[in-house]
Formats: sequence, structure tokens, C-alpha cells
Amino acid sequence: KLELLSENTKQSAQLFENAKKVIPGGVTANIKYIAPHPIIMEKGKGSKLYDVDKNEYIDYLLCYGALILGHGYPSVFEAAMGQMKEAGTTIFGTPHRLETVMAEKLISLYPGIEMVRFTNSGLEATLLAIRTAMAYTGKQKLAKFEGHYHGGYDQVLLSVNPEVEQAGDAVIPNAVPESQGIPDYYVENTVILPFNDLASTEKILRARAHEISSIIMEPIQGGFIPADQEFITGLRALTEELGILLIFDEVKTGFRLSLGGAQKKYGIKPDLTALGKVLGGGFPVGAIGGKKEIMQISAPDRGRDILTAGAENKNKNDALFHSGTYNGHPTILASGLATIEVLEREGTMEALFFNTRSLRNQLEDVYKRYDIPMQTVGEGSIFNIILSKSRIKNYRDMGKADTTLRKKLDYELLKLGVYTKPLNRYSMSVVHTEEDITRTVEAHEKAIKIVQK
Ligand code: PMP
Repeated sequence: KLELLSENTKQSAQLFENAKKVIPGGVTANIKYIAPHPIIMEKGKGSKLYDVDKNEYIDYLLCYGALILGHGYPSVFEAAMGQMKEAGTTIFGTPHRLETVMAEKLISLYPGIEMVRFTNSGLEATLLAIRTAMAYTGKQKLAKFEGHYHGGYDQVLLSVNPEVEQAGDAVIPNAVPESQGIPDYYVENTVILPFNDLASTEKILRARAHEISSIIMEPIQGGFIPADQEFITGLRALTEELGILLIFDEVKTGFRLSLGGAQKKYGIKPDLTALGKVLGGGFPVGAIGGKKEIMQISAPDRGRDILTAGAENKNKNDALFHSGTYNGHPTILASGLATIEVLEREGTMEALFFNTRSLRNQLEDVYKRYDIPMQTVGEGSIFNIILSKSRIKNYRDMGKADTTLRKKLDYELLKLGVYTKPLNRYSMSVVHTEEDITRTVEAHEKAIKIVQK
């Protein structure tokens, strides 16, 4: 007999049984697994998702934040289909005009971006940024912060969500691999830093500056724990002093914290920036941007002149390798440009932030009424529900939250039609309405009553 998430998810359970026979674990990304079975969706419209059992959900996952305009925004659909019709093809496999149009747009919005290259995912963007920094500085080690995610590859799949016993001292954390199959090389050659702790970070960096090429960071950890202004300003000054490049991974924060990402809000120019998610209007995309002098390292016609800093590099005559069959996909760039066009309309981001704040305030009120220690933590259009009153400023602090209760509530919320992956953050869209917010707050109250029974 099938184990059901609820009496109303029988089709999902059945389809998942079939999926498990041909797909390991029945999911195409481990993060998409929910026990006893994920909910199988078949339609999206605006702020809603609809599953194969015809249940409706208010969607706060929004494809892990990518769908800032919700599902099926008309002008994005039109842009994608219009581009294909006009071009008579899905993709050219050659340079085309929209690449420059999008590059110019990103340069106008992001203070740290002077030149742009496109990729197919956020993962590829951070990977290319790290490689660029190594080539540019000639140094071979990478530093990253504990609890920060930059994509699913060996170099950065370290200390994203480590067991604290393995992760050691909070001020000089160990590198802990997040998966089987990660070579020891990366564990040994990656420096893990404590987020929002400038003094400890400085100590580590000063001791190892000669070998660290770059620091990659999420300016807002997990999209919801902001860097303190002092911390991020201090880190920028320190990296400049020590000849370490600073990479902002703005895959989550890009177009969500502001149109110019976290860098605009903090007033910091990183050396390199990785973008993704919102940029593709719901299609797979990534981009890397940064200082001209650094970005030029991948220019095929100038490889010899530019690649001087990477003295160790044997292929000095070549440009930095960057390729990809689908890079700069015209259909995707058209959807991304249509998405940005909507976000740039006067008052749009402000209304999005206002609604997010309103939902956060109302949720905080409900939990207070039921005497559950709770705070929302976030910035802009993303936040998380933390069942704890202590201040959350980095990975170690997350251990203070009551995740057992949160998970129970999240399962009830799924049954009540509020969708996010259990324990995940909430992302808002410009199409979430006041009615959605009211229904969400009511669902939380119902869920609290059920788990408190
Ligand atoms: N960096 C950050 C900060 C992310 O949130 C993600 C995706 N969650 C990635 C990189 C990887 O992006 P993608 O899934 O498009 O490869």
C-alpha cells in the first residue's frame, strides 16, 4: 500500500512510484525529494501551482526563487515565443544581438559589472568566476564561507550544510565535503571562513593571502541571512589590500534584493559577480560579470596580452577557457529581458518588498499569539521562518532554530495549499496578492493549531 503525504495526493504517490523505477530516488535533483513522496505538479498560473490530484497551492518556492513574476507571465511568454518566431529557430549557435543588449543591461544595473559572459546555470557562472580569479591572480586556492552554496560541483561542495561536530571550531571551520566522490584535493585546498565574523576572517586571510586567489560569497547567506554592512565593507577593503579577488555570488540576490543585486544595496563593487535564476525568466541561465581588466582574460583575440598575471599558467598564449553549446541562448535572453522590463516599471520592486514585509509581519504576529518563539529573517523579496528568538547571523546560528517543529508545520502547510519545500525559505513574486497573503497567514494559524493539538 502506498504511503501518502495526504489523502488528497494519491496520484502524486502513484506517479512517484513509477518515477522511482527509472530515476534514482524518483527525483532529478536531490533537493526535490520530499518524504514519503514529492507532490507532482502539472500546471502553474500566477502565484499558484496545481498538482496532478488537482490541488491548488500558493507557491513560495517559485522554482527556488527564479520566478519573480510568478508562473506564465504574459509578456515573458510572448517574448520567448516572439523571439523564436522572428528568428525562425530556437538558437543560432553564433553571436547575436540580444547578447549585447543583455550585457549592456547588466552593466547599467550592477555597479561591479563592466563586461559580461553568459552561461547555462548559476553553477557554471560561479565556476567560471573562480577559474577566472585563479588565472588572473596566479594563485591556486579558493576561500568560501561556511553555509554558502554556489552550485553542485567539487570545488564548492564543501561546508554548505556540515555536521557541526565535523565542522569544528566556529572561528576556524574545517572544510567538510557535502557529497561522496569529492576528491581530498578540494578539501585540502579550500579555505573555509566564518560569515559575519570579520576579525576571525581577517586572521585566516592574513595568514594565507599568498595562496588564496579569491573569496566567493553569498552577500546574503542562503538568500536570507544578510552580511552586516561593516563586515562586507571590511571584507572588501581587506581583499583589496591582500590581492584577493572578491566574488559576489548573486544567483539568488540578483534582481531580488534590488535591480542591481546586493552590491547595489551595500554600495560595494565586487571584482566578479555571478548571476542566474531571475535572469532567465524561468529558463536555465547564468552570467558572470566583472571588471574589464579581469573579464578580458577570456577574450580569444587578446589572450597573449592579457594573460600575464597568471605566471604559472603553461598555456600562456591562450585565453581562459570558456565555452558552452547553449551559452547566450536567444530565447532565454529574450525572456530574461522581458522579465527585467517588468521589474524596472516604476513601483514594481517597492510593491514586491512591501508585500513581502506585510507577509512577514503578519506571520510574526500569528506565532506570537501562539507563544512560539519565531522571527522572519530576510531582505527584499526573500525571507525564512526561523523558530528561535536568538540573532541569526551565520551558519552556526541556524542550529539554534527548532527545525523539528518547523518541519511539522511545513507538512501541514503543504496539505493546506501553501507550497514550499519543507524547511526552505520563502520567495515572493510580483503577482502574489493581498488575498494570497491573507490565505497564507490563515493557513499558518491552522497548521499551528493542528501541531499543537
Ligand atoms: N549560487 C547560488 C547562491 C544559488 O542559490 C544557486 C542555486 N540555488 C547556485 C549558485 C547554482 O545555480 P544553478 O542551480 O542555476 O546551477
